Amino acid sequence: MIDLPDDLKKFSRSAKLKPVFIFILCECVSALFFVLSRDIMYQTEYIAKYNAIGHAMYAVIFTVPLFISGIFSALSDKTFYGTIEKVKISTTVDSLNSFKPSKETRYRKNTIYLFVKEENGEAEKFKVYSGRANDGQFLETYNTGDRVLHLYGSKYTVILPKPSDTMAQCAVCGITTDINEQLCHKCGHTLPTFIS
Ligand SMILES: [Zn+2]
Repeated sequence: MIDLPDDLKKFSRSAKLKPVFIFILCECVSALFFVLSRDIMYQTEYIAKYNAIGHAMYAVIFTVPLFISGIFSALSDKTFYGTIEKVKISTTVDSLNSFKPSKETRYRKNTIYLFVKEENGEAEKFKVYSGRANDGQFLETYNTGDRVLHLYGSKYTVILPKPSDTMAQCAVCGITTDINEQLCHKCGHTLPTFIS
């Protein structure tokens, strides 16, 4: 694996800790709520009669943090660097309202997958973009042969600048900066020009 500059390592490290921290915090709140409310709850006429309903309710309360903390997406994310072997774009139909899909809330969605050959020679498939189909400019961003970098915790997968390029995209915040600046002028992180 490439040796990342310290500030980028630090960015990924704190991105890993954040969902874990939020998850633990939410579970503590759930536990506190459980301790404070269970006596009253199980004494209410209905739940005293049907204990299982009370159990189910608390099971939900303890499960919710799994979804709101982002811990699932945190587990599936990873840092990668390599050369694009293939770009696959799939267009699907999604709805803004998943509970009540209607004609008005339906939209076409593009998802971009990259097959990236990493330094160890193995190719892996990564989902790098998912959004409305009319954001057409994203579709030509990635091309076979481009070298890309994605940092754990970043929303972006950036194309590494070629020797002739004068601009570089920040792997943390995604904005494009003059290659000579070394550091991103928006977030201050090292630009991905350290990989030659
Ligand atoms: Zn930046």
